[in-house]
Amino acid sequence: MIESRPFVYQKRRLVCGEVDLTQLAEEYGTPLYVYSADQILYRLGLFQEAFWGRPSTICYAVKANSSIAILRLLGEAGAGFDIVSGGELERVRKAHKPALKRVVFSGVGKQVEEIDVALKAGILMFNVESEAELGLLAARAEALGKTARFALRVNPDVFAETHPYISTGLSAHKFGIAITEARRIYKKTLKSKWLDAVGVSVHIGSQIRSVEPFQAALERVLALVAELRKDGHDIQYVDAGGGLGIDYGTGSFDAAAQVAKYAKALEKALADEPAHLLLEPGRFLVAQAGALLTKVLVVKKNGDKTFVITDAGMNDLIRPSLYQAHHEIVPVRQPSASAATAPVDIVGPVCESGDFFARDRKLAKVKESDLVAILDAGAYGMTLSSNYNTRMRPAEILVEGPEARLIRRRETMRDLLAPEL
Ligand SMILES: *Cc1c(COP(=O)(O)O)cnc(C)c1O
Repeated sequence: MIESRPFVYQKRRLVCGEVDLTQLAEEYGTPLYVYSADQILYRLGLFQEAFWGRPSTICYAVKANSSIAILRLLGEAGAGFDIVSGGELERVRKAHKPALKRVVFSGVGKQVEEIDVALKAGILMFNVESEAELGLLAARAEALGKTARFALRVNPDVFAETHPYISTGLSAHKFGIAITEARRIYKKTLKSKWLDAVGVSVHIGSQIRSVEPFQAALERVLALVAELRKDGHDIQYVDAGGGLGIDYGTGSFDAAAQVAKYAKALEKALADEPAHLLLEPGRFLVAQAGALLTKVLVVKKNGDKTFVITDAGMNDLIRPSLYQAHHEIVPVRQPSASAATAPVDIVGPVCESGDFFARDRKLAKVKESDLVAILDAGAYGMTLSSNYNTRMRPAEILVEGPEARLIRRRETMRDLLAPEL
């Protein structure tokens, strides 16, 4: 059961595991994010098993879905974490304190306070993205009397086919340090008392569907590692980043095959490399484990177009608006096989024409008060949500086996107004 989609029809109603989504909507209201814990753990397990043969840690990229309950689930199952802010560090601390020592800290603009907190927490390493940041890290380590373990995040100049907003591995991007500059910068740290070059890291982007770019990037990284060892650095970690894409369409849902293909490509590059491998998958672990449940407010016709207006909007799930991303959308009550479908625009109530989930999408007829589920919404859904239009963020539910647990209550007007003076 776990290998198949976590959201399937049973007795003509959409369920998550053993939990009926119609009942969840009645109990907790809509819009509502629902996640399958079993699916998340299954996917973490696929990664862990694929690299079983070598020392490795799966450092889940917190920004994909930073719910504390989900971080706890992953932390307790042995995952480390890839963070990009001091805030995410606090989430990891709250979720599963022992995992702090399995944290890698990425991000192009780290601040003094964030560096200090991470140094004190004893994280695994900093993925340093500029020469200036390395200087700052050394200064903060000295001020605190700590040694900062670091990797340079190198930019391998590898092209990966994905949306331009989430491609990061070309020299034209703001991320990382040109791989050709890396050796010189590492050399400068050889005599530093405060800096310990323990690794090299790379991350070429997100939602990358073919595995060749990962292999190409890793090969370049390993060539650098060999040079660094010659220079006298004790490189113990190779961080291959995240970015493995999923199928947002109706097609393949064979996560095991996708991970196997990815692992095979990385293993080809790694060969007998002895370093501890770090991976930073985000989307792949959580995207297909989540759905956004929403209620139809109005069905209206303008000219020859039909709009299905839902109570979820772009503030709840911005991926279609921001990346022209495709999400499958299904009625919660299963339509009969012979039910006619008609092209509709499924849109939110936000005052922007960019507030849509799907355009000209064939959907079985729905009416006011019907529930629909926007699938594959577990990654970059809630974490990219906002209060635009003074709308309250959805509640979140984690389904574990037969149990559904509220892991974040719906926001209230009081929550929204609290910071205003
Ligand atoms: C966003 C990000 C990830 C995760 O990317 P996914 O596509 O969600 O796997 C990993 N590492 C870094 C440095 C990132 O910025």
